[in-house]
Amino acid sequence: MAKTEFKSESKRLLDLMINSIYTHKEIFLREIISNASDAIDKLYYISLTDTNVGLNKDDFKIRIDLDKESRTITITDNGIGMDADDLDNNLGTIANSGSFKFKQENDKAEDVDIIGQFGVGFYSAFMVSDEITVRSKKYGCDKAYQWVSSGADGYEITEIDKDDVGTQIILKIKEDTENEKYSEFLEKYKISALVSKYSDYIRYPIIMEMEHRKLREDSDPDAPEYDEVKEDEVLNSMVPIWQRNKKDVTDEEYNEFYKQKFFDFEPPARVFANSVEGLIASFKSLLFIPSKVPFNYYTKEYKKGLQLYSSGVLIMDNCSDLIPEHFAFVKGVVDSQDLSLNISREMLQHDRQLKSIASTLEKKIKNELSSWLKNDREGYEKFYANFGKQLKYGLVGDYGAHQDVVKDIVLFYSSTEKKLVTLKEYTERMPEDQKEIYFATGDSIDAIDKLPQTEYFRDKGREILYCAEEIDEFAFQSMSSYNDKQFKNIVNEDVEEENKDDNKDENKNDDTLKFIKDVLGDKVNEVVFSKKLKSHPVCLTAKGGVSFEMEKYMSLAQPEAMVKAQRVLEINAAHPAVNALIANITADKDKAEKYAKLLYNQAVIIAGLTVEDPSEYADLVCSLMN
Ligand code: ADP
Repeated sequence: MAKTEFKSESKRLLDLMINSIYTHKEIFLREIISNASDAIDKLYYISLTDTNVGLNKDDFKIRIDLDKESRTITITDNGIGMDADDLDNNLGTIANSGSFKFKQENDKAEDVDIIGQFGVGFYSAFMVSDEITVRSKKYGCDKAYQWVSSGADGYEITEIDKDDVGTQIILKIKEDTENEKYSEFLEKYKISALVSKYSDYIRYPIIMEMEHRKLREDSDPDAPEYDEVKEDEVLNSMVPIWQRNKKDVTDEEYNEFYKQKFFDFEPPARVFANSVEGLIASFKSLLFIPSKVPFNYYTKEYKKGLQLYSSGVLIMDNCSDLIPEHFAFVKGVVDSQDLSLNISREMLQHDRQLKSIASTLEKKIKNELSSWLKNDREGYEKFYANFGKQLKYGLVGDYGAHQDVVKDIVLFYSSTEKKLVTLKEYTERMPEDQKEIYFATGDSIDAIDKLPQTEYFRDKGREILYCAEEIDEFAFQSMSSYNDKQFKNIVNEDVEEENKDDNKDENKNDDTLKFIKDVLGDKVNEVVFSKKLKSHPVCLTAKGGVSFEMEKYMSLAQPEAMVKAQRVLEINAAHPAVNALIANITADKDKAEKYAKLLYNQAVIIAGLTVEDPSEYADLVCSLMN
């Protein structure tokens, strides 16, 4: 039979494998064992409802056999197995594997490190083998098949005789070279050490025949005191890391577990383990917060959720009901003995135990984030830069039902502190004469800082929260107040304390307003004398609920709704440019009209909106220069 070629991505990866540095090579065993364990999980799960499987929990195992003569390592499992199609699809292309997907999306990531950090599954075995044979029989299938490959030139699948369901992987170990002692992997002590290092928590026994010296029973003085005996031995402790006592687990172990399990490149920013004895459900959880935003995080592809175990048996890989939307970045595992094993996914959603676990977890996560914020501000701010936006969804989602959970762990940029602050910090230092929480919206912190509207408050020493994210305004609107203090968008609304008499009255003539309104027509809804402008001649504010930021957002999200902010042009009667306009209303009407249009367009630009007709505007400026 002709050899089937690997898909092209696989070839690239095989090259990479073969050239990887030695210290990474040892992870091949972890990858193979982890696949075997997954395959057993699958068959074990079936066996709970299907007696035809004919195996009990204690029957499932992974076996390792070494043969120095033929230079082979054989790893045998009695898991679900693969048929010919599976072999072709799963081992024919590496593009299926989670880690490779990660690699494709992050092409700049260091190739070599990908291997070191979390391996590339089955293919990593090519780092140490020059030929791999996979013999497998799938549960429920009459026939068994064999897949053989010696690397980049492809693979061959043939039918074989094999009685037991499961998979056997035979690695033909490479010959030693000057730098690389592959023979080490044929030593029992080495394999046993690798299992302890990387696969200790695997839930099924990993068995290898070991040699012992056993004290002799009879006491023949001439015979040696000990016998050399060969006995099967379980190499792993089988205790999942989340079942172990926190103080017995090193940071290193947690980090390794996380990286491997959740395909991350970096150790997590935060690890927290909890053991909860609840009335409705008791459980153990081990949760992680990534130190970087996953590459697909803000896309539809990202699936929030935790791995759900029932007494150590994986029942769902990604249980999204365990994690609320605002904590979607949390990864981890939950294990409860109170969940029924063979519950269907649909039933699980309504499960009382599951709901109780989810609500306890939400509190645990909130507490963890609160103490992080309190005890390590710098670390928290780093986290916040990654996932703060997600937390803010908790302020708006489900009609604000989760506001109490997140309102004290969200941060906003403060005009006076020049850093992120909490709403509590803001309200606690509010002077007595300030009644409302001031915020200002715009495209960026810088742009907001330059808005004419913020100047007045800044000069008075008032603290303003600068909101450059779309969600901020929705958040404040949906909260409406914090600690009984109302939120006020100073870009849009008149604020009580605004100056009433700063602008001299002599210029405040209603005819001026009418003149400008007539010139601008429908472009503005209203023209008023401003109470807050100081050094700027004009600004645009929005009236009646819809702000400019919201208008911008809606024009992208739902253009057909044609949501428009009501534009109010505020003019500063004390500003020389406005005075020039007013003087020209009687002296040179044509010029006054041009001034009015010019000032309007300036207000549009400062507000971060686009000038409706840029070339007309340019002509206007030129005509005034003549
Ligand atoms: P990943 O584990 O990231 O999916 P791998 O390259 O390690 O990628 O494995 C590819 C696929 O091959 C697995 O997802 C699984 O479907 C199948 N597989 C590998 N080893 C076994 C095994 N021992 N038993 C059954 N299926 C296996």
